[in-house]
Amino acid sequence: MQHTKSKALYEEAVKYIPGGVNSPVRAFKAVGMEPIFIEKGEGSKITDVDGNTYIDYICSWGPLLFGHGSPDILEGIQEQLLKGTSYGAPTAIEVEMAKLIVEAYEGIDEVRMVSSGTEATMSALRVARGYTGKNKIVKFEGCYHGHSDALLVKSGSGTLTFGVPTSPGVPADVVKHTLVCEYNNQEAVKALFEEHGEDIACVIVETVSGNMGLVPGKKEFLEYLREVTKAYNSLLIFDEVITGFRLGYGSSPEYFGVVPDMACFGKIIGGGLPVGAYGGRKDIMEIVSPCGPVYQAGTLSGNPLAMYVGKKTLEKLKNNPGIYKELEQKASYLAQGIRNNLKALDLELTVTQVGSLVCLFFTSGKIESYEDVKDCDLEKFNKYYKAMLERGILMGPAQFEALFLSTAHTKEDLDVTLKANYEALKVAY
Ligand code: PLP
Repeated sequence: MQHTKSKALYEEAVKYIPGGVNSPVRAFKAVGMEPIFIEKGEGSKITDVDGNTYIDYICSWGPLLFGHGSPDILEGIQEQLLKGTSYGAPTAIEVEMAKLIVEAYEGIDEVRMVSSGTEATMSALRVARGYTGKNKIVKFEGCYHGHSDALLVKSGSGTLTFGVPTSPGVPADVVKHTLVCEYNNQEAVKALFEEHGEDIACVIVETVSGNMGLVPGKKEFLEYLREVTKAYNSLLIFDEVITGFRLGYGSSPEYFGVVPDMACFGKIIGGGLPVGAYGGRKDIMEIVSPCGPVYQAGTLSGNPLAMYVGKKTLEKLKNNPGIYKELEQKASYLAQGIRNNLKALDLELTVTQVGSLVCLFFTSGKIESYEDVKDCDLEKFNKYYKAMLERGILMGPAQFEALFLSTAHTKEDLDVTLKANYEALKVAY
């Protein structure tokens, strides 16, 4: 497999862009490679500038639930485009979009559109602090909520991969209000609330963490978070940037039966365009400017093109509830196939799967928190990663990333992937 053009582009890119990329994990540094520059995507496949085509399990890190360039999602976008790209004024389409989210998500009465997941979680924290009049927040080790200062503490995804879970440049004064707990550890949360409960504005959590590989939240853990936040008049915020409209049309409240006070969205609700959103109960959201004093704004918030693609995406999901079963079946076929390969090769590695997300951990045993995943054999993962890429399988280039499946992935794609998985594991071990 040749990467000549990617290499040349990378050499040019590093002159003008830090690390040659606009988001760190794209650098492929964690797997000891240089970035692959993409030319186009179609369905489940992505093609690089050298003409290599891969089955894509990055899917833009989650937004592309229908794969690349789904024609029914993009249909009509040109018409929208010709009407203008942004107005900085309200549109009918953003009202429809908000209505779709509010109707789908239990507990959310109002929603505000922003332009990224980072903005959504950052804004939700501000609202939670404004609403409760308290300063402290609780997050969990290995969960990633974007790169705003308060949340960049013992974080996941690229921060874990690059060894900066707490980034330099974040003032100690800012993060002194961020309390960090072990994921899925009810006792640790209990102790934290006993000590700081009166000062805790909110708990923010990924209900299924897709940023330390794939670590499913336990239902009892989420139920406990609901209970303890209520008891202390703190807010429970679900960060649904990955899980929203992926676990099901009703997202985490439907999947786990736990209803938060606020939720944050991104990725799927933009179908590949830059979007985020945060929402909550009416009494909470009504403190947001211009109804109330908590300020939050955005030049491109509710961007009409992004709203168009997001609305089409949500409507397609709403009208085809069978999609979730189909995605789940594909993901369990892949997860089970990997488990079978491991068994055939006498390897004890752990595979996790939730809905359309899958992860192969290069460690064995239970996977419930960052403590369980941190001992993964990254050297073996890197060998495996390269062998998979050579066989035309593109995955997030780091152990702490999940595989994202889409409706565009076919059984043939999955079988090709499983064959590659078997061979790549043999290369790694
Ligand atoms: N929250 C979660 C759970 C995420 O996975 C991410 C990004 O991967 C974010 C927030 C931040 O979203 P964005 O990258 O759009 O700022």
